[in-house]
Amino acid sequence: MKRRNLRGVNLGKSKSDLNGKPIYSIMTFRSTNRKVSDVASNQISHHADGIDPIKASMSGEDSAVCGDCDFRGVWDNKKGKMVDRICYVNLGAGEYQKHIGYSNGNYPHIEDLDPCEKEFVNLSIERWITRFGAYGDPMSNRKLFSKMLKMVRKNNGMHTGYTSMWQRKESHFSQGALMASVVSESDYNHANDLGFRTYRTKLPGDKLFVGEANCPNPKVTCDECGLCSGTDNKLVSKFPKLQNKNLAIDIHGIAPKTNAFRRYIDNVQWKT
Ligand code: SF4
Repeated sequence: MKRRNLRGVNLGKSKSDLNGKPIYSIMTFRSTNRKVSDVASNQISHHADGIDPIKASMSGEDSAVCGDCDFRGVWDNKKGKMVDRICYVNLGAGEYQKHIGYSNGNYPHIEDLDPCEKEFVNLSIERWITRFGAYGDPMSNRKLFSKMLKMVRKNNGMHTGYTSMWQRKESHFSQGALMASVVSESDYNHANDLGFRTYRTKLPGDKLFVGEANCPNPKVTCDECGLCSGTDNKLVSKFPKLQNKNLAIDIHGIAPKTNAFRRYIDNVQWKT
């Protein structure tokens, strides 16, 4: 029987390359993230296995897919809530729903797709931008990252992706396709020295670093832009002058997040 409305595929379970704990990965075919696109994108997400992403964030089990990323925040027992979470991913919306979809078996395994479904996946990749690490760092499953990148390139698809794990030697191979997420100037220089292009969230009014340009969002969405595709970004043509630049964007979003970011920046600047 043919499956209609293929909304996602199961990319399989594995052990996290970040801490050895079980994780699973999925690819979904719609986005409600307006920065990415109002229409659609292909999103590759990684989740700690056996727990929903909200609980994983509260307990710290999200380290299986997020590593030691500073933007994760921590659970404050006294306040009864997460504090200092800066991450742009709203777990309560898309990722939780994806987890439910995965747990209910709504996403067929990529190896079990029939020819029509395979064609749908290939056409989606050709037509819509693919986001590596819509949630979870792409380096939590390096083998899968390489496999999916090959698939995207074979289908001439655009892609974007970021890694906070760029300092780890085993992640360096990803610089052709992923941007290094940085905050401080010393990390910016270090990532560039390692061969990465960078993406930086900054405070409004903070100057760009040498070699950096402003992310064109919100004038365009990521699917129209595609600049965040590492050093090997040959498919990008809309902004040729920005093609080799590092990129930066002002912090945006809800007040608790922007305030947490201000506190974090103060701390980073103190440390560097
Ligand atoms: S530079 Fe382009 S691809 Fe990167 S975040 Fe900004 S709009 Fe998206």
